[in-house]
This record gives sequence, C-alpha cells and structure tokens, in this order.
Amino acid sequence: MCGIVGYIGNKNAFDYLIKGLERLEYRGYDSAGVALLDEELKVYKTQGKVKDLVHVVQDQNIQGSLGIGHTRWATHGAPNYANAHPHISQSGSLAMIHNGIIENYATIKKALENRGRTFASDTDTEVLLQLIEEIQEKNGVELYEAVRLALNEVIGAYAIVLIDQKNPNILIGAKKGSPLVVGIGQNKGEYFIASDATPIIEYTRQVSYLEDEEIVIIEKGELSIKTLENVEKTPFIQELSISLEAIEKGGYEHFMLKEIFEQPTSISNSLRGRFSPTELRFAMSSLIEYEDKIKNLKRIIIVACGTSWHSGLIGEYLIEDFARLPVEVEYASEFRYRNPIITEDDLVIAISQSGETADTLAALELAKSKGATIYGICNVVGSSIARLTDAGAYTHAGPEIGVASTKAFTAQVSVLTLLSLGLAQIRGAIGTQKLREMLSGLEVIPKQVESLLKECDNLCREISEKYHEASNFLYLGRGYNFPIALEGALKLKEISYIHAEGYPAAEMKHGPIALIDENMPIIVIATKRGHYEKIVSNIQEIKARNGVVIAIVSKGDNEVKALADFAIEIPDVEDALVPLLSIIPLQLISYYIAVLRGCNVDQPRNLAKSVTVE
Ligand code: GLU
Repeated sequence: MCGIVGYIGNKNAFDYLIKGLERLEYRGYDSAGVALLDEELKVYKTQGKVKDLVHVVQDQNIQGSLGIGHTRWATHGAPNYANAHPHISQSGSLAMIHNGIIENYATIKKALENRGRTFASDTDTEVLLQLIEEIQEKNGVELYEAVRLALNEVIGAYAIVLIDQKNPNILIGAKKGSPLVVGIGQNKGEYFIASDATPIIEYTRQVSYLEDEEIVIIEKGELSIKTLENVEKTPFIQELSISLEAIEKGGYEHFMLKEIFEQPTSISNSLRGRFSPTELRFAMSSLIEYEDKIKNLKRIIIVACGTSWHSGLIGEYLIEDFARLPVEVEYASEFRYRNPIITEDDLVIAISQSGETADTLAALELAKSKGATIYGICNVVGSSIARLTDAGAYTHAGPEIGVASTKAFTAQVSVLTLLSLGLAQIRGAIGTQKLREMLSGLEVIPKQVESLLKECDNLCREISEKYHEASNFLYLGRGYNFPIALEGALKLKEISYIHAEGYPAAEMKHGPIALIDENMPIIVIATKRGHYEKIVSNIQEIKARNGVVIAIVSKGDNEVKALADFAIEIPDVEDALVPLLSIIPLQLISYYIAVLRGCNVDQPRNLAKSVTVE
C-alpha cells in the first residue's frame, strides 16, 4: 500500500512524478503529493486522488530536477491534507515519503516532543522524519548516516525516500518489509525510484530491487547501497521484462474489465511450458529439485490473505484430492500470531499476488525459522516472498492493476492445479488415466475461458441490470465451488459495496436461510459433477421460500435451469477444473453491478492493492 516515486536527473521531475503516481494509484488514493527541489524545496499536496493534485497545481509552473511523490493509503491519521505525504521536517529542509507502519512511533514521538520537536501531522511517517533530522542536527552527520541511525531505532515496516534542501544532489531511499526498486535511467546521472517497476518501465529496463535493511544513496549521479550495519553492497542490476501495454488499459473502460478478459492469456501463461499432457511430465523446477522431500512430506500448510486465501482453499481440495496429503489453509494474519505447530517435515506454501503481503511474508518467516520448507506462489517477479522462499512458482499473470483481483486468482488456481498433480505423481497417488484426463482438461481451459467470456457477457450484464439495486447477496457452492462462492461474494463486496456472503450450500440451513426473501439474489454454483443432486435440493429449499436464484450450471443442464430465475452455462469439465470457469461469470456480474451503481471499480473505497501493512 502507498505508492512511492522519486526522480533525480536533468529533466523536470514533475511529469515523471505525476505519471508515476497515476501508475501507482492502485496502492492507495487517500491523498497525493509531490515535493520538488529547485532553488528551494516546494511541496504540493491534496486530499484525494492524483487527478485532484493535478487540478490543484494546474496553473503553477513547477520546476525541479529532483523530486518525490506519494499516493497514500492512510494507516496513522485521517486522510486529510496535513497527513498527506511528502512530510517536511521541522527545519523545512528534509522532505520524505513513506510506505509502511512505524510501530514504535508513539514512544519516539513522545521523546522527540520532550526534546522540543513539534509535529504538523498525526502520521508515524513524520515521527521517523523528525527523528532523522534530530540525529542529523545533533550528531552533525551526513543525511545517509542520520537515516541509518534512525532506522536502527525504529520497529516496523517501511519504504522511504528523502530529499534534502541543503544538498540538491542527493536522493536517499531505504526499505524493510515494503518494496522499493531503483531504475537506472538512460541519461547519465538519471535515476528513478518507486514502489514497483510500473512508473519506471517507460524510461528504462535496468532496475535494482532493494533488499530489506538496505539504504540506497544516489549522489552526484552515482548509485551506492549500504546496509543498516553500514556495510557496502554491490547493486544487483537486472533487466525488466514487463511491457508497457501490460500496465495500460488498452481500450477497456477499466483495468478490472481488461484483466477479466485477459484471463485466457494469463491462465495460458501460468501453465505454459510447465507440463506435457501427452508425456504426463511436469517441468516445474520446484517439483524436480524437491522430489525426495515431497515423497516424505507429512503435511502442507497454505498461508495467504484475501483472494489468495480463497485460491489456497481450492489448493487444499486439489492437493488432498490428488496427492492425498493433509493440507491446512490458514489466514496468514492468524497463523503468525498464534502459536502454530510447524515442523521440518512440513511444506508451507505462501500465496500472494504482489509477493509483498505483510502478514503472508511474516508467516513465511515464522515457518522458515521453524525449519519448514517454504514455497511461494506470487505474481510479481523479484518480490519479497519470491526472494525468501526455498522454491516456488510465479503465476505469470502479468501486472494486475485493478484493486479487485481477477486474473491473478485464476493464475494462482492454475498453478495450484498443476502443483497438486505434480505432487500426486511424485507420491504415486494418482493413476495414469486420471492424470491424463486432468492435464488434457487443463490444457484446453484457456480456450474455454475465452469462449465463456464471449458467451456469458451479455447475460451477466442483464442479470446485473436487474439486481444491481439489491442490498444483500448470498453465494452458495459445494466442494470445489465453495471457495468460488467466497470469492464471488468478496468481489461483489469489494467493488460494489453490496453486502454479500459466501457459504457452503449445505450450511444455508444452519443460519443464512433465515435471510431469504424475494429481495435477496442468491447465486448458486450448481455444476453437474460437484454434488449435483445435493445442490439441486438446496435450490428447491430456496425456491420454497421465494428466493431469487441465479445459477451457474454446466452446459446442457435442464433441471436447475427449470428452477432458477437465471442460469449461466459454463463448459462441463472435470470437477477439479470447474473453479477456473465458474468464477468468470461471478467476476463479470460484480464488475457490471459496480459500474451500474456508479462505483469506482479500479479504486474501490478504503481498499488498496499490495497490502504491505498488517
Ligand atoms: N503510515 C503511513 C501513513 O499513514 C504510510 C501508510 C502506508 O504505507 O500505507 O501515512
């Protein structure tokens, strides 16, 4: 959360900063601000979005070849002007932006206040900034040294970038827990710094991702990296492979819609080169390298948050079904703070689109410290989780900009499907025929998603027209479709602000059935192979109470169709492959309902992507 961008070079930084903030806005949009250093340090900020900032500064001639910019997702202090970043130190010389949380800010703030410092905001960020300045002034040290000493005193997560009016040739960044990447510009002495590579790729492909507890100093055109222990590090420069088109809307009204329609490609990319349905072979390095370990595994624990937790649940069903290994799926935030039993025989799988999710990262660190083998399923290449794990698989879904996850989810489920089959093969738990059926089925999923998107789009719009004013929705599914019910409900909540709940269909009679009336649409995923007769009975129970049923059914189904108010057909595939298809109409319905309600689909209120805070 929070987008950070910085520029140092020979050009006017302002345009780079604004464009960068627009690209990072999915990370937060409570306020936006920039600080530029020309002859003096100037700060422009506003509550609201980047477009509001542009509006605020439209008549001003903003200059400066050194600058920083921020788009905020508030954690400490209301989303108002005073709390907007960049923050300015008491002397007015330092400007700083921050992503993360300084957990011991209250104690430090008190001590600073006792020593005469005053504060202009309620943020934890300003506390760190004032501490840096106090150290700089008291100890008479260089800015880098003051940053280093201050960071040694703070507890929490941060990515920070600072500039100093007294030294117009220096830009300093540091990170722990939150991501920070430096781009090496094509012109001499030109550098970019940002929370992720999206603001950078237009200008350079040469980047260096900072490690935790590293400080980057860009001074007089030179880049150097030091650790919090003051050890010099050689920057590891790598080449970015994402394309500019991947982070633009490409003619779609919203990123979310683009990403929904990209799923034939993203699923295909997540599977590409990883298996052969004819030779029944897997080409996933993690499976090959860990073959012995896999044979002796006793248990798998999956840790994740939000949508990734839902794909984790599907992973549980898949792995238990095929590899016959016990699986537990945990909310990372609960797992890390209880006292979980983790052994060296466990495999802990972390799932996170961004690879930066703070709770998931901490859960992994805990598992690692207990000797478990840790495995990552992330979308963002080079992310913190990817770097921490022993093994893993990227989902290759391409950048996901819409805050509500769609293509990253189906890519995670695709990878988990492959992984479960690979584990099953190594452990001798799956027969050749079943494996062949599954792999051949998986191979044609991208094509089926493509046709489904075309076929169900109009019906999803029609259903959305009819029910977009409802105040509550219920989503029901059984087996593999239970996590889909959860995910469908989450999508609707996130972007349309309609209260929605997902339930295992059979649980309906233990409570939610009391809510059923003619005003509450109930989306039931009732595909042919997943406990069909049982779910038909559940639909009968709903209809007996005048409930509205929107059913997701397998092609050719007549029974549910006859009962339901609306029925959306999806291809009749293996039960374990259904989630990759049944989620598609639910994504579209959420999208169209949110649009009809006038909601900001790509930037839903209070939410942000890449949850780097707890
Ligand atoms: N804690 C800082 C604030 O509230 C940064 C928040 C964040 O990174 O999400 O301003």
